[in-house]
Amino acid sequence: MSRRRRASSPRAATPIDFDRTTALARLASDEFDVLVVGGGITGAGVALDAASRGLRTALVERHDFASGTSSRSSKLVHGGLRYLEQSEFLLVYEGLRERQIIRQNAPHLVQVLPFLVPILKTGGLLDRRLARLLGTAMWMYDLAGGWRIRRHQRINKGAALQHIPTLRADRLESAYLYYDCQADDARLTLSVVRTAAAYGAVVANYAALTSFIKDDRGKVTGATVEAEGAAITVRTRVVVNATGVWADDVRELDEGEHPAALRPAKGIHITLPRDKVRNDIAAVIPVQADERSIFVIPWNDETYVGTTDTDYDGTLDDPQCSPADIAYLLDALNDAIEPPVAASDILGTWAGLRPLLRDADSPHTADLSREHRVRVAGSNVVTVIGGKLTTYRRMAMHTVDQVMRLAGRRRRCRTKRLYLVGANGYEEPGADATAEQEHLAHRYGTEAAVVADLVRADPRLSEPLVPGLPYLRAEAVFAVRHEMARTLDDVLARRTRARLLDRDASGEAAEAVAALVAPELGWDDAELARQVRAYRDALAVERAAASCVSEGPREGQMYG
Ligand SMILES: Cc1cc2nc3c(=O)[nH]c(=O)nc-3n(C[C@H](O)[C@H](O)[C@H](O)COP(=O)(O)OP(=O)(O)OC[C@H]3O[C@@H](n4cnc5c(N)ncnc54)[C@H](O)[C@@H]3O)c2cc1C
Repeated sequence: MSRRRRASSPRAATPIDFDRTTALARLASDEFDVLVVGGGITGAGVALDAASRGLRTALVERHDFASGTSSRSSKLVHGGLRYLEQSEFLLVYEGLRERQIIRQNAPHLVQVLPFLVPILKTGGLLDRRLARLLGTAMWMYDLAGGWRIRRHQRINKGAALQHIPTLRADRLESAYLYYDCQADDARLTLSVVRTAAAYGAVVANYAALTSFIKDDRGKVTGATVEAEGAAITVRTRVVVNATGVWADDVRELDEGEHPAALRPAKGIHITLPRDKVRNDIAAVIPVQADERSIFVIPWNDETYVGTTDTDYDGTLDDPQCSPADIAYLLDALNDAIEPPVAASDILGTWAGLRPLLRDADSPHTADLSREHRVRVAGSNVVTVIGGKLTTYRRMAMHTVDQVMRLAGRRRRCRTKRLYLVGANGYEEPGADATAEQEHLAHRYGTEAAVVADLVRADPRLSEPLVPGLPYLRAEAVFAVRHEMARTLDDVLARRTRARLLDRDASGEAAEAVAALVAPELGWDDAELARQVRAYRDALAVERAAASCVSEGPREGQMYG
């Protein structure tokens, strides 16, 4: 790591001040240089960049932090091997550069993950041209920055089968190994938001921007934010619209008409028990039906598989996995492994919407660029759209450069060397660490000590939050005290990822978890019951949408 000085950030022996009531009061009383709308990874990054450059910064999120796309990704911090196919060399290079920066700024949150790319035979024959192309792509990925973790390797069939014994041996010729990174997307987003708060940003979830306030020249002087059933007038000179797939809706509030600049693309994932796939590393599995590929990725004791990439014109608020989406992933996986996995093996599902820019006239959303764009309106509303989880810091830098210009201020971006909460002083757990110590270290970094203190004070908090999953009851307490979790879904879907890892087990534990956090959140019996009902209802909708998986993708469904 370079010896250049890092922007100082709190050594997190005591958790940072992250209190919603105080934040709502300050939204009404303070005056801000910039109000960031949207608490996904993009808005979080913008708030951190702005606050660390000394701007008086506020961030409002309509629902929970990362409740939009930023908790529903493939959870890879990567350059994106497949973008090489589309000749998006710069995108890959930038992704791999950002991968390195995130690894340095948040080493506890980002884990290196080897990926196996099988070289397959079709009809018993090896397509040498395809194998050569794959080799070239591996070298290009390394040259673009992949080498920073480790250079790719070619391994033989036996070695590949040791990593994934379920791969169909009759089709396997050999394989490549390359290296990328994985991070819990919701946790990364929350860590960026909390770091922004540590730098002075005023941050609130469950606070929605509903209108802009402008002077007679049409310039923004403030915005109305609704929270707790009340309207708060927030005074600000600039607004950043970082609302992902909702960006057009917020632009409509500013510009008076819906610009339809975005083309949302749905992607889904399914979670399976690890022993059904038996992979000890990740894999990129080619899909013969449409020349795409899917990821097969280990996560805790489970494996998730994704993703699809389809045009989407349904409601933006709660996209669901359809039976056809699930059939596509199962068919693609079962084409490569044996024995096959069944729909009844699925433990969890999630669906997300990519905020892609509409401009390319491509029939396939997978061909649309993952580049981002920053647009400055005459009203001083700056909209940032597109991009990837991996490149959030760079997107934020470009956005705040524009905000600084509008605010008439000059200060360079500081986030390249800026530890996220939990990173300053973090040391990777040693070989003798217990599974629990490792689990806490990778989720909280130096703040793991605070969770451990909770357990010391009340040993019952060391029990599992959801039987079969690694989360402790102490983590739910930490989530409501220090991470602004407000609902049962916040705790089970985003502060922990129990809902994604094992939907039914999380539903069964819902009552016990609600009882645990109720005193912290001031819930009476009626509210506790309402929270459990709402959570189980959401699971039922998810289960119903994904049920009745057909044998294959539906006619007319386009994947690509
Ligand atoms: C299936 C899938 C897989 C992906 N995999 C990867 C990957 O592996 N690696 C990678 O780098 N990228 C990946 N991406 C891309 C990445 O997830 C997204 O680019 C990123 O999460 C978008 O973040 P965002 O903050 O722009 O949007 P969002 O996370 O959607 O955040 C926008 C927020 O704005 C809030 N909001 C909306 N309106 C208002 C309002 N009026 N007031 C207040 N708040 C409001 C919403 O509630 C929401 O939380 C993937 C995307 C998908 C869909």
